[in-house]
Amino acid sequence: MRVYENEKQLVKVVCNACGKELLVENGILKEECIHVNHDFGFFGAKDGESEKFDLCEACYEKLTAGFRIPVERRERKEML
Ligand SMILES: [Zn+2]
Repeated sequence: MRVYENEKQLVKVVCNACGKELLVENGILKEECIHVNHDFGFFGAKDGESEKFDLCEACYEKLTAGFRIPVERRERKEML
């Protein structure tokens, strides 16, 4: 979950799974974080609803380790 000041400045990011507070400095998130913001559509039970959450890297690894089919992984050649 994310907390913004004046609806703009990021002040706090907390992992929804474990409750760990991630490092935010001057409005910039300085730790790896997986942010999910999903708009449910017509074919789902939550049509018209939006949900969002954040996961720290450790919780993301725990979640994906339980996948029957592993996540697809590739190395990026260019990083900005
Ligand atoms: Zn976590």
